[in-house]
Amino acid sequence: MPEFTMDLNEEQKEVRDWLHGFAADVIRPAAAEWDEREETPWPVIQEAAKVGIYSLDFYAQQYFDPTGLGIPMAMEELFWGDAGIALSIVGTGLAAVGVLANGTEEQIGTWIPQMYGDASDVKVAAFCSSEPDAGSDVASMRTRAVYDEAKDEWVINGTKTWATNGGIANVHVVVAVVDPELGSKGHASFIVPPNTPGLSQGQKFKKHGIRASHTAEVVLEDVRVPGSCLLGGKERLDERLARAREKAKAGGERVKNAAMATFEASRPAVGAMAVGTARAAYEVALDYARTREQFGRPIIDNQGVAFQLADMRTSVDAARLLVWRASWMAVNGKPFTAAEGSMSKLFASETAKKVTAQAIQILGGNGYTREYPVERMHRDAAIYTIFEGTSEIQRLVIARTLSGMPIR
Ligand SMILES: Cc1cc2nc3c(=O)[nH]c(=O)nc-3n(C[C@H](O)[C@H](O)[C@H](O)COP(=O)(O)OP(=O)(O)OC[C@H]3O[C@@H](n4cnc5c(N)ncnc54)[C@H](O)[C@@H]3O)c2cc1C
Repeated sequence: MPEFTMDLNEEQKEVRDWLHGFAADVIRPAAAEWDEREETPWPVIQEAAKVGIYSLDFYAQQYFDPTGLGIPMAMEELFWGDAGIALSIVGTGLAAVGVLANGTEEQIGTWIPQMYGDASDVKVAAFCSSEPDAGSDVASMRTRAVYDEAKDEWVINGTKTWATNGGIANVHVVVAVVDPELGSKGHASFIVPPNTPGLSQGQKFKKHGIRASHTAEVVLEDVRVPGSCLLGGKERLDERLARAREKAKAGGERVKNAAMATFEASRPAVGAMAVGTARAAYEVALDYARTREQFGRPIIDNQGVAFQLADMRTSVDAARLLVWRASWMAVNGKPFTAAEGSMSKLFASETAKKVTAQAIQILGGNGYTREYPVERMHRDAAIYTIFEGTSEIQRLVIARTLSGMPIR
């Protein structure tokens, strides 16, 4: 197991600089346009595919980096470029992680390549867990999957909401209830292959921020998928359900469900996205404060402005440290005894909201206009405290982990 280190090795530095170049030269210049268009930036995703940034290979390499720093470093650089476009580039990864976490080797080999497509024909994937009445409260999910034994098929019915890439994805990963008696322990994840009848896009949402990322409802009406589309397979599901029923009878020990495993694995990565946005806003503000003159001197000459910048940079660096620690722990199988993954997401996302607001203040009137990027960054930053578990849910997880109490 590698020691925790903050020194990137030569290879990591090269990857970071390469990603930064792409973020600066391709993503950032396109950010304002796609934010206004509120559409998936297909040409930018294609560009990312051409250079190898939008590919399974690239993410697998970062994912399996034994230092744990591969994914957070990549996320920070891409989201430094622009959060909406970067989410369009990495959104497929959430579905891919769902398959990696719960799928068999055969399912991983079959479906993940179809999630990405290739540079000449890029595809995206969607992870569909949330429902209109089941956001933070995953256990109240209603989408139902019923096994049709005669045909070895699962029949899925329900409505998913807020799905990134929902309806435009080639492959959808859908979490559904297979045993309503077991609450969240009775959930399972399914692949819905391309062009499956019965799956359609519902409403596409008009959003406050990350507007280049497509977010929509996904409606499932008598969607039939082969038995092989149940992630992990029927045998493993039956065993898991049997164990959960036993434990429910015995009164208790918690069993992780498929969706929660996916969220756990992805939380520090969301923290890293937030660090990218926060750092971007801080850099714009620092640059502006050095060059904008009022009362005959740069505004940074005022302690009131300079101290804000000092606080902003301190928070960004502290957030990165929490994210790197959690990512290192995750890769090296360290138990999250203080919910360090949730801690990193909580702190980084709150930092992004605060730092982007401070950046607007430092840019004054200009900060409030779309001529400068910080108002977009502030709108974008608001998502980090909501998706992948709200800040309140992160606090709940941390508090329960620390106290061992069922805090409500
Ligand atoms: C742009 C965007 C993209 C998304 N992408 C995806 C995706 O790809 N796939 C997917 O499945 N989902 C996705 N989501 C859904 C996202 O994960 C949920 O919005 C999130 O989990 C919160 O659920 P909710 O919106 O229903 O809020 P609610 O659960 O209704 O919460 C509302 C408020 O109540 C608070 N609250 C709720 N319960 C408690 C409690 N016990 N204690 C204290 N406070 C509480 C919350 O913190 C929040 O402030 C996305 C959402 C957005 C906006």
